[in-house]
Amino acid sequence: MSINKKIIILGSTGSIGRQALEIIDRSRDKFEVVGISAKRSIDELLSQAERFNIKNLAIDEAKSLPEQSELNIFSGRGSSIELIKEIDCDVVLNAIVGSDGLLCTVETLKRRKVLALANKESLVAGGTLIMDLLKSGDKIIPVDSEHSALFQCFESEKREFIEEMILTASGGPFFGKTIEDLQNVTVEQALKHPNWEMGNKITVDSATLMNKGLEILEAHFLFKMPLDKIKILIHPQSIVHGMISFIDGTVKSVLAIPDMRIPIAYALTYPDRLKLNLPAPDFQKIGSLEFYVPDIKVFKSLDLAYEAGKSGKTYPAVFSAANEAAVEAFLQEQIKFLDIVDLVEKALQKHDTPNVIDIETIIEADKWAKQYVRITIAEEV
Ligand code: MG
Repeated sequence: MSINKKIIILGSTGSIGRQALEIIDRSRDKFEVVGISAKRSIDELLSQAERFNIKNLAIDEAKSLPEQSELNIFSGRGSSIELIKEIDCDVVLNAIVGSDGLLCTVETLKRRKVLALANKESLVAGGTLIMDLLKSGDKIIPVDSEHSALFQCFESEKREFIEEMILTASGGPFFGKTIEDLQNVTVEQALKHPNWEMGNKITVDSATLMNKGLEILEAHFLFKMPLDKIKILIHPQSIVHGMISFIDGTVKSVLAIPDMRIPIAYALTYPDRLKLNLPAPDFQKIGSLEFYVPDIKVFKSLDLAYEAGKSGKTYPAVFSAANEAAVEAFLQEQIKFLDIVDLVEKALQKHDTPNVIDIETIIEADKWAKQYVRITIAEEV
């Protein structure tokens, strides 16, 4: 493996960013972190900079910055974009949460850097516009565990021979529940994921299955697969992460224990692999792997994702942004759990898509959807 891959980590104080630094810490001869960014956790950002001797930082909202410093600090809204523009690197890990990551994804691809993509919202919102930025040889390496698996299954295969792509879902904390059961679930209950350790937004998304909805759209754009060839199976053990079935009846899949460090490391080192000191699944202990069809009556997020994908244009952006605003309100206990997906549905119904689709109109649709959700909540409370 080429030594000293230069890495920029956007969202370094979040769950993915921290785990990436943990991986890098154990293989310091292979990576050099040349820049990190955070939205507002300045103290943690500074301590990461010290620990890894990182000189270039970006912070969107800082109460105060160190006065005399050897550091090169970009600050204010859009500081992460400045970081990518100014600092040379080999790989950008985009681990920002939500649509704030969109312009960073765009800038990384414009600069023709390898994009290790954890910020699925940017691909969902930008869709084909993002994929059109890729020139021959450029790569988006997904960090999302399911897409990492599909990406690996897809290697050296031709799209025309693919029958179906299957994304697995753990089912989240509310697998097997009825609508009645979900009426009054608390934030605390929604944040208890059975298998994965993740940030708050994605953990709530896993509980509503909005995460899987976003992942349907992510796979649709990333692999240029028709929506009707992307299927979801609930797989409570979270060992099989993705499967591709081919026209000859062969199925390829990637299996691993549910640990985000595996797909993060793969994205940072592709096409090489890194020794992680994590075990392969112990199949004797696991015993059986189960698969179920999701209950789309309870979890209507999946149907909404297919609909948003079929409508295309700015609808996927609205699907993602409305959810982002609704999850924020749920975490602040302003709305109930089931309101999240209801608000996404309403936003999709109310949205008027513009005639011209470009990054600006996508950003406008994103703003509109968040505003629509906030106003709707304010009116109903
Ligand atoms: Mg995932």
